[in-house]
Amino acid sequence: MTDNVFQLSCQCNNYPWGKKGQESLAAKLCEKTPGTGFELDNGKEYAEMWMGDYPDLPTKSLKTGELLETILTKNKEILLGKNCIEKFGTQLPFLPKILSIQKALPLQIHPNKDLASRLHQENPEQFTDDNHKPEIAIALSRFEAFAGWKPLSEVQTLFKLQPLQRFLARTYTTFGDETLRSVTQAILEASDEVIAETQKALAAISREEYGEQAYILDLLPRLQQQYSQEDPGNLVALLCMNYMDLSPGESIYIPADGIHAYLSGDIIECMARSNNVLNTGFCPTADRDNIKLFTSSLTFSTHSVEDMLLKSKPSPRSGKGKSLEYAPPMSEFNMLRTVLGKDEMEIIRAVDGPMVMLVTSGNGSMKADGKIHDIKEGYVFFIGQGVELVYETETGLEVYAAYAE
Ligand SMILES: [Zn+2]
Repeated sequence: MTDNVFQLSCQCNNYPWGKKGQESLAAKLCEKTPGTGFELDNGKEYAEMWMGDYPDLPTKSLKTGELLETILTKNKEILLGKNCIEKFGTQLPFLPKILSIQKALPLQIHPNKDLASRLHQENPEQFTDDNHKPEIAIALSRFEAFAGWKPLSEVQTLFKLQPLQRFLARTYTTFGDETLRSVTQAILEASDEVIAETQKALAAISREEYGEQAYILDLLPRLQQQYSQEDPGNLVALLCMNYMDLSPGESIYIPADGIHAYLSGDIIECMARSNNVLNTGFCPTADRDNIKLFTSSLTFSTHSVEDMLLKSKPSPRSGKGKSLEYAPPMSEFNMLRTVLGKDEMEIIRAVDGPMVMLVTSGNGSMKADGKIHDIKEGYVFFIGQGVELVYETETGLEVYAAYAE
C-alpha cells in the first residue's frame, strides 16, 4: 500500500545559461532536501530543477528511491485518480521546474499538438513526446523576459529605420502579422555579416529616433555580450517581441506556438508534460532548428505586454484566504501560491487529481492524510488526489503547488 503523500528527491540540469553555484536558486533549493546525494559545485552552472515524472530528469521518492513515474504507474487509481486518468492519461500531466537564468535562453516556441505529433513521428530522438507545452512562469525574483509580439504599430515604427529596410519585402500595403512573419524569417536567414552590420547601424541611431522604444539601445549591448554580434536573436527579440520586467509574484503565460526567450531571474515554471521545443537565436548556429519550420509555426494571437501577463486571483481551494491561484487558459494544470506570516495557517481543499508542492522559503508543518510532515525551504512533496492539506507555521512560509483536475 503506497503513501498518498510523500517527499520527493529532485535533480538539476546544467545548461550553460544557468546561474553559477550558490547564486542559482534551483541548485540551492535542490540542495536543501537531505539524503539526495546532490552536491552543489560552485564552478558549475545550474539552470533547472525538475519536479515531475518526465524521464529526462526524473524525480524519485526520497524514502524509497523509486522513480515517481514507477510509483504512479503502479498506483495510478489511488494517486492520480479516475478523473485525471480519463482526462490526461496515466502520467503526471504537468511538469513544474525552478529556473535560475543568468543569460538569455534560446529564442523558442513549443509546437502545438498537431505539429508536435508530426515532429515526434518524423524525429522521435529530438521530439521525445507528441504533446503540446503551454507554460506559465511566476517570478521569484526580478524576472526579465521577451515574450509574444509587440503591438504591430510599434514594430512598424521601428521598421521605418533605415538599417531595417533590407528585411522588408519590397511591397506591403499594411504592416500585418504576415509582414511580421516575413521580417522575422528574413532576419533569421540573414548572413552573420548582415546581422552584425545591422546591429552596429542600430546602435548608432539616437535615442530620440527610438522614442518610447529607446530601451533597445540599453539592451542591445547586453545581448551582444551574452551571445554575439552575429546572433539574429538579438534583433528578433528587441525589434519584434515584448520586453517584460516582472516583480516577484507576477506571472506570464505562453500559449502553444508562442514565441519567447527568458532573459534573467529566478522563476517557478509549470508546463504540460512535454519537452518539445524549436530553438533559433541565442544559441549556437548548429542548435538552430529549421528556420522555415520555426517561422511557419509562429502564431500571432498575442500582441502586447498585457496579453502575456497571467493575473492571479484568490483561490477557491483556499480555506483561510492565504492562497492565490494562477489558472492559465487551455492547459492541464493550475498553480497555487500560498504566503503565510508568523503563526498563520492555511487549508488547501482536496483536489480531484495529483499535486506537486514546493516550499520556496520559510518552514512549518503540513498535515495531510492523517500525518504531519515537517516542511522547509526546498522540500518537494507529491500529493495524491483527494487529500486536504493544512499548512501551519510559527515563523512564515511560502509554498507553490501545481495540480491537475
Ligand atoms: Zn519555453
